[in-house]
Amino acid sequence: MMSILIYDKYLKLTESLAGPFPALSLANAVGKEDALFPEILAVTAGVSKNFNSYSSESLKGGKKNDHGERSGYRSFTDVYPKPLLLNHETFGDILGRIVTSNFVDNTHIMVCARISDWKYIEKVKEGDYLSVSVGYLTDSVVCSICGNDIYKTREICDHTKGQRYGKKLCVWEVGNMWFRELSFVSIPGVPAAGVISLGKDTSKKNESDETTGEEEGNDE
Ligand SMILES: [Zn+2]
Repeated sequence: MMSILIYDKYLKLTESLAGPFPALSLANAVGKEDALFPEILAVTAGVSKNFNSYSSESLKGGKKNDHGERSGYRSFTDVYPKPLLLNHETFGDILGRIVTSNFVDNTHIMVCARISDWKYIEKVKEGDYLSVSVGYLTDSVVCSICGNDIYKTREICDHTKGQRYGKKLCVWEVGNMWFRELSFVSIPGVPAAGVISLGKDTSKKNESDETTGEEEGNDE
């Protein structure tokens, strides 16, 4: 079975793996200290700057795929916690993992990530890692002008995303979404998507590495 993997800007066809897989979790890691848990707005319903249209229904989701992952916001944590990456580099470093995901106000997905590597924690705290973009699989991509489903026909029509045809704007209406990763990017397709708050901070770097010579002693 082929699926379409979309990074808001571009899409590529991927071979789907056979399932089902045992569920993996961060249950052991989450309880441990030394991590930052930033709250991140992953994506909003509406038309992105790259003219992909995400409906509230798609973000809410609930349709199970062959691996038992429910579509929409739950796919960030279903079966295994999805990775936090840089620029959709699936062969690069993993910066962290998504530990919780919620659909809020029927408009946007809020996730909490866990980042344990201090060099990435610093980047987030400094605001260098700020904007994000989603990578996902879908089962339907429909041209808003002619109704051609690129997923089903495997053919791109003559309409161009972002162009107007009469009064109608051409966008790609994305169907069910199974999120594969969340990436920090320099220029987000959804401007509002990014780190909203630094959240819980149990990173030791935060406490111990800022000392200026005098150590605070423990009364033991
Ligand atoms: Zn078309």
